[in-house]
Amino acid sequence: MKNYLLTPGPTPVPLEALEAMARPIIHHRTPQFQEILKEVEENLKYVFQTKNPVLILSSSGTGAMEGVVASLLSPGDKAIVVRGGKFGERWGELCAAYGIEFIPVDVEWGKALDPQAIKKILEKEGSKVKGVYVTLCETSTGVATDIEKIAEITKDYESVLVVDAISALGAVPLKTDEWGIDVVVSGSQKGLMIPPGLAFVSLSEKAWKLAEKSTLPKFYFNLKAYKKSVEKNDTPYTPAVNLVIGLREALKLIKEEGIENLINRHRKNSKAVREAVKALGLELFAPDAYSEAVTAVRVPEGVDGGKLVKTMRDKYGVAIAGGQAQLKGKIFRIATMGYITADDLKKGFETLETVLLELGYNFEKGVGIKTLEKNLV
Ligand SMILES: *Cc1c(COP(=O)(O)O)cnc(C)c1O
Repeated sequence: MKNYLLTPGPTPVPLEALEAMARPIIHHRTPQFQEILKEVEENLKYVFQTKNPVLILSSSGTGAMEGVVASLLSPGDKAIVVRGGKFGERWGELCAAYGIEFIPVDVEWGKALDPQAIKKILEKEGSKVKGVYVTLCETSTGVATDIEKIAEITKDYESVLVVDAISALGAVPLKTDEWGIDVVVSGSQKGLMIPPGLAFVSLSEKAWKLAEKSTLPKFYFNLKAYKKSVEKNDTPYTPAVNLVIGLREALKLIKEEGIENLINRHRKNSKAVREAVKALGLELFAPDAYSEAVTAVRVPEGVDGGKLVKTMRDKYGVAIAGGQAQLKGKIFRIATMGYITADDLKKGFETLETVLLELGYNFEKGVGIKTLEKNLV
């Protein structure tokens, strides 16, 4: 049985990257590896759409999130944290772990944030707030946040804008420098199409200034050390050599396709998924604030959501994601990010239809796939 991965991370890895990672390992303190790092660095800047260095950390995405909190803040600083799902909550958990008082902006799961809520707090709290922490694509709900609008607000304040783009990078529009985003965090196992294990972060000059003053305790994730190294095409500690080598291939593919085409492909594929879902008589979880990286769908009445995901995976080899936390059993999620192709999505919907029928949900068989295909061309 062939396995299909339609989960919002990890995502499938292209053969070019798999093959490169399978080659014998090389040493990292060599001109050969420095050349690779240099190329990877240039192409990461292209994908992040920034002129600032993109730091590469050996961890999953959360490591970069932690590094950003510890490297930018000092005791007594305040933060604003937008919480509309599990990953937004993580920013709050990280602030709490470092003793940073944060003001939560709680958004109903599945709904869009009103950026004015951030402006109100910034006006009231003034320069005590040193960071606004938001999630571009809230993977747990499939909601996208209007980062461009938030950046317009934060640029007039002392606070930096920190964006978790772990699932959004390379899938939804994100113009780091043009929009004026200070910090962008991402990871390797989503839109960047390689296995888990690398995290990335870019920082603006405004963010680096804050980092200069930061006194929170930190060591491995002290971003200043990574900045010093990246300028010499080096890393402070042993990098995940083979993942970087795989990333080089994945970035080549992205560069070849071009960022605009890449974003358009995600837009088209995710629209096809939404239309197919509706054709099946199912309801989108975030119809007004959907992200183009992952689509969340309400589990229909009478169907066991856990069983749906499990049957698709174990009986048919198609992995989708269920709901997390309060959404457990209530939604399922289909990713459209990275190397998930139109053919993968067709297989996904064929299996979804089969399993929905098995579990007693009725619709006109084939209508989902037909709608999907119509929208994919
Ligand atoms: C996957 C994801 C994370 C967590 O990243 P890890 O790589 O699991 O540490 C954080 N935020 C968002 C939005 C994600 O999609």
